[in-house]
Amino acid sequence: MGKASKDKRDIYYRKAKEEGWRARSAFKLLQIDEEFNIFEGVKRVVDLCAAPGSWSQVLSRRLYLPAKSSPDCRDSDLPLIVAIDLQPMAPIDGVIQVQGDITNARTAEVVIRHFDGCKADLVVCDGAPDVTGLHDMDEFVQSQLILAANPLLVVLCIGTNNCYSCTSSWWKIHCKIVVFRGKDTSLLYCQLKLFFSHVTFAKPKSSRNSSIEAFAVCENYSPPEGFSEKDLYHLLEKIGSPSGVEDLDCRSGWLEGPNKVYIPFLACGDLNGYDSDRSYPLPNSSEGGCYKSLDPVQPPIAPPYKTALELKKAANHGILKIDKLSLNSDE
Ligand code: SAM
Repeated sequence: MGKASKDKRDIYYRKAKEEGWRARSAFKLLQIDEEFNIFEGVKRVVDLCAAPGSWSQVLSRRLYLPAKSSPDCRDSDLPLIVAIDLQPMAPIDGVIQVQGDITNARTAEVVIRHFDGCKADLVVCDGAPDVTGLHDMDEFVQSQLILAANPLLVVLCIGTNNCYSCTSSWWKIHCKIVVFRGKDTSLLYCQLKLFFSHVTFAKPKSSRNSSIEAFAVCENYSPPEGFSEKDLYHLLEKIGSPSGVEDLDCRSGWLEGPNKVYIPFLACGDLNGYDSDRSYPLPNSSEGGCYKSLDPVQPPIAPPYKTALELKKAANHGILKIDKLSLNSDE
């Protein structure tokens, strides 16, 4: 598609360029704010998976620049915005960039240092892994990215120990979720609901209807009783180090109570092997040969659907008879 044709077809793509946003996603965050008023009173914000930076631009324009231009704003009152991504990005006014992996516990430490040990008021996450084309795999990786972001955020939250200026007792996270087949939305909802009393899935107008992406807007952080942020931190640390995974024996019971919800998941099978969602040509058919379908090795002896099949067969038979009768009467 040419640039002009894309300008015509995608109004948000065109508007983004006209208004100086690096990506059309800026509108998604702005529209989420219209509904949820997410920027109110925010002093410390983290933008996870930030590159190329349109969400960070929104944060800068909405939080940093107005404060900066106010005559009585001291430097110490300026909002702190930390943006994290694997990729570097061009500088943005008032945005501190951290090039790192959001699934790595060390990245959280860096953020906490930038906040002088305080917790974040707002965390936005627009993470999207590189798509492989294997939909189940992509869906899994996407949900893992969000779940990885979740403990990281929790770790951000526990950096409150030495903080005296931290007054906000609630925070929000905004995770972009791209669920290719929709089924994991419920899993994600359940997992996020463990930590937040309000979880809403939002679909901004600028997000195409043809895309099933949605944004989880989570409010009021309230982890379950007995939940230990430190356990999650260690878990993240182990998963993040090459030797750590071997130490990680989930049967040993070092995770207790509600902390057990973070069960390490091991994907099995060769990625280059057969894909269960793909169709493959039948052997011989491409060379003009004749393919012979084999019978099932052992069909079920008494399947529960047997009676239903028999009834259906009988009914079909009945319909055929009626059709024949009605045909005869027409003659
Ligand atoms: N919100 C951004 C904006 O408005 O410009 C767009 C984000 S883009 C859709 C997704 C980003 O997620 C990519 O830049 C990618 O590098 C980043 N990403 C994917 N996995 C990541 C990880 N594990 N840690 C940090 N960033 C990650």
